[in-house]
Amino acid sequence: MIRYLILLAVGYGLYRSLKSWGAPHPQRKMDGRGQDRIDDIMVQDPICQVYFPQREGIRWSHDGSDYFFCSQACLEKFKLEQSINGK
Ligand SMILES: [Zn+2]
Repeated sequence: MIRYLILLAVGYGLYRSLKSWGAPHPQRKMDGRGQDRIDDIMVQDPICQVYFPQREGIRWSHDGSDYFFCSQACLEKFKLEQSINGK
């Protein structure tokens, strides 16, 4: 079941990234601190599919992988799904 979910997530992510190619570039926050934004990598929340800068997300390490979430609520939801599907 978890493999199917991963495939689905990857497929959906590819679909989303292909679709977003034509979209305008995301607006950069001009806060006057552009110099320290070298790690401003966009990542996707696996729960709500939202893209956000990695450094602004909530990081969770699990099974040797790092996951990033837009909010604590999404992290909790992901953990719950892991505990249901993982055992
Ligand atoms: Zn989220």
